[in-house]
Amino acid sequence: MRHESDFLIIGQGIAGLWFALRAAEQGTVIILSKKDARESSSNLAQGGIAAVSGKDDTFEDHVRDTLTAGAGLCREDVVRQVVSEGPSLIEHLVENGVQFTTLKNSQAHEFDLGLEGGHSRRRILHASDFTGREIIDRLLALASENPRIRFMDYHIAVDLLIHPRCRYVPVKEKSCWGAYALDVRQKTVHTFVAPVTVLATGGTGKVYLYTSNPDIATGDGLAMAYRGGARIANLEFIQFHPTCLYHPRAKSFLISEAVRGEGALLLRNDGSPFMEGYHPQGCLAPRDIVARAIDQELKKTGAEYVLLDIRHRDPDFVRTRFPNLYRKCLEFGLDMTREPIPVVPAAHYTCGGVVVDVNARSDIANLYAIGEVACTGLHGANRLASNSLLEALVFSEHAASHSIRQLRGQGKVSVPGLPDWTSGNAVDSDESVVVSHNWDEIRRLMWNYVGIFRSNKRLERAKRRIDALAAEIHQYYWDFLITGDLIELRNLALVADLIITSAVQRKESRGLHYNINYPMTDDLNERRDTILWKGYH
Ligand SMILES: Cc1cc2nc3c(=O)[nH]c(=O)nc-3n(C[C@H](O)[C@H](O)[C@H](O)COP(=O)(O)OP(=O)(O)OC[C@H]3O[C@@H](n4cnc5c(N)ncnc54)[C@H](O)[C@@H]3O)c2cc1C
Repeated sequence: MRHESDFLIIGQGIAGLWFALRAAEQGTVIILSKKDARESSSNLAQGGIAAVSGKDDTFEDHVRDTLTAGAGLCREDVVRQVVSEGPSLIEHLVENGVQFTTLKNSQAHEFDLGLEGGHSRRRILHASDFTGREIIDRLLALASENPRIRFMDYHIAVDLLIHPRCRYVPVKEKSCWGAYALDVRQKTVHTFVAPVTVLATGGTGKVYLYTSNPDIATGDGLAMAYRGGARIANLEFIQFHPTCLYHPRAKSFLISEAVRGEGALLLRNDGSPFMEGYHPQGCLAPRDIVARAIDQELKKTGAEYVLLDIRHRDPDFVRTRFPNLYRKCLEFGLDMTREPIPVVPAAHYTCGGVVVDVNARSDIANLYAIGEVACTGLHGANRLASNSLLEALVFSEHAASHSIRQLRGQGKVSVPGLPDWTSGNAVDSDESVVVSHNWDEIRRLMWNYVGIFRSNKRLERAKRRIDALAAEIHQYYWDFLITGDLIELRNLALVADLIITSAVQRKESRGLHYNINYPMTDDLNERRDTILWKGYH
């Protein structure tokens, strides 16, 4: 079946929904999600959004903190723009009904600002400890009331409609006209045609065995853009969140950095603190340093987890400030007001992504990328906590304004002839075990060889394994009818390969990338982005 609209958005997190609301001012919108509308990283965000609003805070401070975290690879013009546009977007959210937590006795409804690692000021606006859910609920409610926006859940985009398809045509002569997507429930592939296509597919956490990300985070947007010919940047910079709950049933439940912001301490299992030995900011050091310190402690002591202790704070304060965390921990039999909680690091955020300009345009005409799937230049080699929701809003806004202007200027759009999906000679698979086995193997090899500490030997091993797996998956993909799992596996294998290749190319340690064979930062030769595109490697 063919569906036409002015805008096709792939992804219903904060980036996709914000774009949808703005784009609907101009035309018709179709917005896909591959699972339920609420299954996204955005919905899970706890800590909040960084934006300057405190009396003692300035844009300059926020810019400096972002640049420091980014370890020499941020684009300063982008950082300045994002930071300066933050407050007006927050105002916009509030006007649209998002309720951020305010100070208890404040007459002027002043925001209660949280503190997180790497920030020199309190500047994290939050809605208790379920900020993402509060924002997504509001945006979903507004978008559902809009007759121009059509939601299509359980539709997983397979590939972009690129014209011309010939691989020898340079990317600057290519344009995107929508995507093929599999209706997972009906098992049919539909063709979605639109003069503006937006990737808002989120991150790639599921490429690692342990992750804070939801199941949807399989790097589909990255893989589709790469296959289409777009440049991808800085994929070696994967942020590992230092504190995910260690519990067999918790499925990497994240313990927000805000808990350390409110004074929680990291301890060894014998109760001794260790962070002061690693960084002057102790438990509030930037995330990469805390994650590496924990990983080192685990390797040194052979323990399976370290402890996070907030018992010294008033229990009522803890219950009010972190109601969601408190309840969730109780479900696992842990009372955080009475006992320290066991935590481990897990893959959390993809700093690199599809290369875009300030209007979120990729290399392929008509194709935009917003949110975690994009590489805008804001994060550099390491994301400052709570800057990602802000980035998603700012770039969705830019992408919407730009694409609306484009459409208005174009008059009647003439769509090139595009074929519908054909399955060729593919048949139903009777060996689904291949998919689950390869999926598991990729996630394990990425965790063991391309994790928090890397080495040349581990990366070489990972590359050999992923090449063999990719060949097997490629064959499987063409022989059998596609399923949601197979589409994700194909994308995971490609993204894993791109992460490994990027890591191999960086012959230094910087920000989130640490290679024990090159432990120093090499500003002279390596202060550059790592760029990959199809045909390059
Ligand atoms: C547990 C957790 C806590 C976090 N806390 C914070 C925080 O406090 N502050 C902060 O700034 N950041 C935080 N982050 C990071 C932040 O939440 C994400 O970077 C951001 O929400 C990403 O938004 P997005 O719109 O790009 O993608 P997402 O919100 O992940 O949405 C992706 C969407 O794309 C869809 N999709 C993906 N692939 C396909 C496909 N092939 N076809 C169709 N649809 C597809 C999914 O179904 C989903 O709707 C947190 C992340 C996690 C995981």
